[in-house]
Amino acid sequence: MQYDVIVIGSGPGGYVAAIRCAQLGLKTACIEKYATFGGTCLNVGCIPSKALLDSSEHYYNAAHTFKTHGINLDNLKIDFTQMVKRKTEVVDQTTGGISFLFKKNKIDSFQGIGSFKDKNTISIKKTDGSVTEITGKNIIIATGSKPSALPFIKTDKKRIITSTEALKLTEVPKHLILIGGGVIGLELGSVYARLGSKVSVIEFMDSIIPTMDKSLGKELQKVLQKLGMEFYLGHKVTGATVKGKEVTVTFDDPKGEKKELKGDYCLVAVGRVAYTDGLGLENIGITVEERGRKITVDNHLETSVKGVYAIGDVVKGAMLAHKAEDEGTFVAEIIAGQKPHIDYNLIPGVVYTWPEVAAVGQTEEQLKEKGIKYKVGSFPFKASGRARASMDTDGFVKVLADAATDEILGVHMIGPRAADMIAEAVVAMEYRASAEDIARISHAHPTYTEAIREACLAATENRAIHI
Ligand code: FAD
Ligand code: NAD
Repeated sequence: MQYDVIVIGSGPGGYVAAIRCAQLGLKTACIEKYATFGGTCLNVGCIPSKALLDSSEHYYNAAHTFKTHGINLDNLKIDFTQMVKRKTEVVDQTTGGISFLFKKNKIDSFQGIGSFKDKNTISIKKTDGSVTEITGKNIIIATGSKPSALPFIKTDKKRIITSTEALKLTEVPKHLILIGGGVIGLELGSVYARLGSKVSVIEFMDSIIPTMDKSLGKELQKVLQKLGMEFYLGHKVTGATVKGKEVTVTFDDPKGEKKELKGDYCLVAVGRVAYTDGLGLENIGITVEERGRKITVDNHLETSVKGVYAIGDVVKGAMLAHKAEDEGTFVAEIIAGQKPHIDYNLIPGVVYTWPEVAAVGQTEEQLKEKGIKYKVGSFPFKASGRARASMDTDGFVKVLADAATDEILGVHMIGPRAADMIAEAVVAMEYRASAEDIARISHAHPTYTEAIREACLAATENRAIHI
């Protein structure tokens, strides 16, 4: 079987690449080693985590905020089995949607492990051991990533777990210990804290979500502490062991003093590494970077082997589904002879806690480091009528604009529906808007988005109206 393009992996990078290739008239095949399409994102990442985040948020509100709204519930109970079942149904519908899209776009799909025999021939090993070979003029590697492990901790996947197991527990933990105060830890930690678990976060750096603008981590920590989560920042984990149903995590405080915590589950969420096992990269002379195991690509996302491309988590850059999708489209269009472009500075980042955290562009720390002169405009949600009405007054929007030109350089927000609101900032920045441009655009009232306008007004000669 001969194809114009063979895509290995069906995550958001791979399936979008395959669909875009088919739209462009290229004969396309996609190989996936798992039984369902959609990769990490649809099966064990974005979608199931958001399903559990939504369910747990409903429960938390029913238990804690409904009363203030004048809604009284008796005998409120968690049916965790149903909660997990609903999550599984959402995943099944979503992965099933990719099968439908593949058929609609006449993409041939193969189930099995894809491996390079040579630069144009891929052998596919199915679960029954049989092997098929297909050839392609172009190959796109979209094999994603897997959780990073700590060399001194054995992840038994029962008590010491990764995000994959944390999404399918059969009980709500009594005490969940998180190693890593990054995106996965705080999202899944929020799920279980809302359902009543004690949640302790041990983070190596001196701030949670340390790669985002420092002000966001500070505010998020305050909110999560209100939810009952506890934080050990600047602490270094030294080990974790399991005895029966108990996990003991040992760590050093910033002064080097030894500490330990005992819980019933420990989630290790210290980042992810590129996944290239079984791909046979050595057969075509592609090597991976020592740190992070990523495949090196050029500006066209082409590897050192002509006609072999790589996208998504397996290459440099943020490990985000929408970045993988954008790269899938990009490579398909490159193969078809077009001249696409991705602005990597304008890929938004979101943390789906409540309130949500979202950001795009440069942080204050980055601007300072680069010596760029900037203005800051902030607006707190406690001054927003919409936020007061929905009882979502934690957080703020912060706009960073160039001191001389007023061009928006970064937008950082923590607040209700920030994940959706950040799109306005991305559009504005793609069109190189100034803070005053956004300040002069009509924003419906009452909406959370008014906070973006107010922050832009604040950055424009301190003209915010409502603070
Ligand atoms: P993947 O989605 O990892 O897909 C790779 C696919 O390739 C897999 O299906 C794998 O089975 C297959 N494969 C690997 N090797 C082979 C082979 N040799 N042959 C055949 N198939 C192979 N990102 C966001 O943007 N928003 C979120 O809310 C978000 N939430 C997340 C929550 C969790 C818990 C996790 C773990 C991740 C989350 N992410 C989120 C990150 C997101 O899932 C990844 O960035 C994204 O899935 C990367 O897409 P990809 O296509 O590069 O790889
Ligand atoms: P992360 O990089 O977001 O966070 C890992 C955290 O662990 C960091 O804060 C780091 O300082 C800390 N850490 C590292 N080693 C440590 C140690 N030995 N002890 C204590 N802390 C340590 O990684 P993650 O949370 O595992 O997520 C992995 C990837 O998945 C991320 O790249 C993220 O982009 C993606 N993801 C995205 C979303 C989203 O977009 N909403 C959600 C989940 C995951």
